[in-house]
Amino acid sequence: MAIARTSTLAVESAGHEIPSTMRAAVYRGVNDVRLEEVPVPEIGPGEILVRVHTCGICGTDLKKIASGSHSAPRIFGHETAGVVAKVGEDVRKFSAGERVVVLHHIPCGECYYCRHKTFAQCATYKKVGCTAGFEPSGGGFAEYVRVMDWIVEKGTVRIPDGISFEQASFVEPVNTCIKGIETLRLEAGETVLVIGQGPIGLILANLAKRAGARVITSDLYPARLTMANSFGLKLTIDASKADAGQTVREMTEGRGADAVILAVGGSGMIRPAMDATRPGGRVLLFAQTVRGEVTIDPAAVCVDEKALLGSYSASVELQEESVRFVMNREMDLERLISHRFPLQSGVEALNLAAHPRPDSMKIVIQPGSTGVPRTPGSGVMGWSVLEGRQL
Ligand SMILES: [Zn+2]
Ligand SMILES: [Zn+2]
Repeated sequence: MAIARTSTLAVESAGHEIPSTMRAAVYRGVNDVRLEEVPVPEIGPGEILVRVHTCGICGTDLKKIASGSHSAPRIFGHETAGVVAKVGEDVRKFSAGERVVVLHHIPCGECYYCRHKTFAQCATYKKVGCTAGFEPSGGGFAEYVRVMDWIVEKGTVRIPDGISFEQASFVEPVNTCIKGIETLRLEAGETVLVIGQGPIGLILANLAKRAGARVITSDLYPARLTMANSFGLKLTIDASKADAGQTVREMTEGRGADAVILAVGGSGMIRPAMDATRPGGRVLLFAQTVRGEVTIDPAAVCVDEKALLGSYSASVELQEESVRFVMNREMDLERLISHRFPLQSGVEALNLAAHPRPDSMKIVIQPGSTGVPRTPGSGVMGWSVLEGRQL
């Protein structure tokens, strides 16, 4: 193991002078992201600089880009895996050459919200601790990311040998999904309907199965149901042909599912999700991130005692469990990646993610790739030694 480490270090120090500028996909306004040359961020004491290998595109990135909810310019991207390129003074935990995944949000642990375990509402949590320049916003859609001290301390995780950057980049999304499943308080044997089998819906469905539930999945795209099947989720509903609520009632002696997870955005599916739930059951809104108004039947909540729940972002308390799930490969998450784009095609990648197709699942941007199709053993920007460790 010592040998592998030395060779990785050699790649970093010999092959990689850190340049003064780098490429980044910069958000400039509503639906306006441009590939630009920007300065490589400087790091201070307690901070590290990470050279990004893979960064997943998340639905929340797309929402921010399409809605203009955040000021411009910014560099988004928070599902970041890469290699430590440089460490600041006083950093003892990490050294150059180590492979890491960084989480961009860590709560303070002390405020009112943290004491009540509502970490996503903590002011420190909302402060983003990773940046590639401009207002800190994740920065993973760039070649290098500056990781601030509290994230180095509590939100940076080493990637074990044999685990790829791609697999590791799922730690944050998996955390948000585990949090959603915890919110539902599933009991073994319960029937759960997961509406939407994009990458997040698939992770949620797998986690529900792991919690002992009988999982039914539905999607409009048959290709996604085939994918669900390949993960051992055998009960599927083709929502382009059948009414999911009706089918679920038929499968549950007319009751409806004990819990329904809504893993597709928008408010149009909230009513059908509630209708598919049994009296006294729960509905989890997982993808309803855009504020607005919606009509619901209040008696479904009061008289039928259906609970409408929500879950957003990650929980620091679930970090170890998420890391274990991902790094132990409890689920082959790489298989969820349908498209890999080099950074120079970052805008195209974001476009595709914003307009999913039947064959598109998780889309990642890989600043560590040149766009030359990867062939085994080819040294793409010095990543070959590291890639060789993907077993
Ligand atoms: Zn995310
Ligand atoms: Zn706090």
